Amino acid sequence: MESSVTRDVVILGSGPAGLTSAIYLARAQLQPLVLEGELSSSSDQPGGQLMLTTEVENFPGFATGVLGPELMGSMRSQAERFGAEIVTERASRVDLTSSPIGVWIGDQRASEPTLRTRTLVIATGARSLMLGIANEARLLGHGVSTCATCDGFFFRGKQIVVVGGGDSALEEALFLTKFGESVTIVHRRSELRASKIMQDRALSNDKIKFLWNSVVTDVVGDDHVEGLVVSDVTTENNSTIPADGVFVAIGHSPNTGLFTEQLEIDNAGYLVTHDGTKTSVPGVFACGDVRDRHYRQAITAAGSGCMAAVDAERYLSSLS
Ligand code: NAP
Repeated sequence: MESSVTRDVVILGSGPAGLTSAIYLARAQLQPLVLEGELSSSSDQPGGQLMLTTEVENFPGFATGVLGPELMGSMRSQAERFGAEIVTERASRVDLTSSPIGVWIGDQRASEPTLRTRTLVIATGARSLMLGIANEARLLGHGVSTCATCDGFFFRGKQIVVVGGGDSALEEALFLTKFGESVTIVHRRSELRASKIMQDRALSNDKIKFLWNSVVTDVVGDDHVEGLVVSDVTTENNSTIPADGVFVAIGHSPNTGLFTEQLEIDNAGYLVTHDGTKTSVPGVFACGDVRDRHYRQAITAAGSGCMAAVDAERYLSSLS
């Protein structure tokens, strides 16, 4: 990685948003540098959240489906084919007040940035909050999921559990009633946090059952989920309930730590964009889940990655 020359564009994140942006910017001969690492995904790994899924059946162009890691591998090769440089190093600090923008890798206290860039595309994604219990990470993609739209189809006629009591959990549960034989919402309190309309829909749906005042303490199964250990918080009694799939829907956290106090962030923690992908700082663009609390799909992330590339390219043209 050449660090003494000011770059035209640095992209933070290598999920669908970051890599789509890289494909477009590389084809525009702007030699984008993609930094991937802890910030690029929902689980601190390059490639974004699709690296955590198995089969992806709703990404257009793949009539028979594609494995998440395979799709990301193809996007990566496509970006590299046109000259994108992808470096597995995490940006530790950015200075958006300087022009060109400073990007630090490694020691964030160093007086000089590691590199400078005229534009920055932020595609650092969001991470699904996880329960942090035994066997949850091991069975992710094997019955444990964080995305009903992505994985619901695999649980046709099965027993599904959704954990959480907010809008996400109820939305996931309602969607999953199309597939599951039963959908049980496990919530740690006796009141839902979700909006009234979502509560009404879920509570009146015959297929949805509720397990109140309960927390999941373990996921049971060798190579796929077979059940959950659930603890009643009022009695502290443990029981094992059968489950083929468990959808953890306890919230998301966008990866915006690097930009606090430098960019406008909404009250849910997402970067605010306007006129496409522009942030509150000229030359800084945001795409993908870090600025999207509504759709959170690979295809919408990829689409906004394209938009950020076009916006960055136009901004660079306006400088010359
Ligand atoms: P949320 O509103 O923060 O709800 C998270 C839920 O998970 C809460 O019920 C919380 O329980 C529970 N929870 C958190 N940590 C837990 C843990 N460690 N173990 C067990 N349960 C845990 O998150 P969200 O549902 O993702 O919604 C985020 C925002 O997006 C909200 O503003 C929401 O309205 C919005 N949203 C809107 C829609 C829609 O309009 N269609 C859809 C999805 C999301 P407690 O209630 O006890 O805190």
